[in-house]
Amino acid sequence: MDGSTYRGEAPVEIRDLTYTYGEGDLKRTVLRDVELSVRPGEIVLLTGPSGSGKTTLLTLIGALRSMQDGSCRVLGQELRGAKETARVALRRRIGFIFQNHNLLGFLTARQNVAMSLELDGSLSDQDRLDRAGAMLKAVGLADHADKPPANLSGGQRQRVAVARALVGEPGLVLADEPTAALDKVSGQEVVHLLRDLAKSRGAPILLVTHDPRILDIADRIVAMEDGRIVSSDAKTSAAG
Ligand code: ADP
Repeated sequence: MDGSTYRGEAPVEIRDLTYTYGEGDLKRTVLRDVELSVRPGEIVLLTGPSGSGKTTLLTLIGALRSMQDGSCRVLGQELRGAKETARVALRRRIGFIFQNHNLLGFLTARQNVAMSLELDGSLSDQDRLDRAGAMLKAVGLADHADKPPANLSGGQRQRVAVARALVGEPGLVLADEPTAALDKVSGQEVVHLLRDLAKSRGAPILLVTHDPRILDIADRIVAMEDGRIVSSDAKTSAAG
């Protein structure tokens, strides 16, 4: 049997990944021999000091930058040597959430969420808006769907970003410091919502964070230091 086509393959499977920025004297290796797998449905938090390589790793997994050395398979797609068309196709199967919600100010919350379905030619505009409305309801924003981002709180905007990331039923969610701009309560609300919605859909999450207040959502915490993974601990909580 060819293991690489097995349907139960890990959504993220990284082997011996090394990454260097710059050339000549400015050359700087920021990821070294990284090995990491994310299992189906698993929630993995990536922590570590600023500059340890977390965002670089996340952007490689998200096919937002090109691989150099090693192997990175994401949702069955090998990214080393992958063509731009394959990387674009993969990005459509990933839900991204960034530190700043990145919503478009001239669109309503519903239109922002619907926009991430625009590439799905099988859906009419009305279908997209309906699905966006249902997703906004799931994040508790049914009454705010027709407001522009400026009329929402920071926590509400980040909940719209969660809805936008999940509405396309992604096979993987990648989040970079999603609570950095939020107070404790809103930050916890957002990540608990993200966890519950992703779990109910079976979508794994890889989330970069500095925020110790949200570590409880993790199934596993992976710590990075100076471009290497220094620990990877499964949480043993019985409460889940
Ligand atoms: P983290 O997310 O853990 O803060 P990053 O992945 O952002 O770490 O950065 C890792 C290292 O790579 C840092 O030393 C940073 O300065 C450097 N770096 C990040 N982006 C670039 C870039 N575009 N060009 C050169 N160096 C970069």
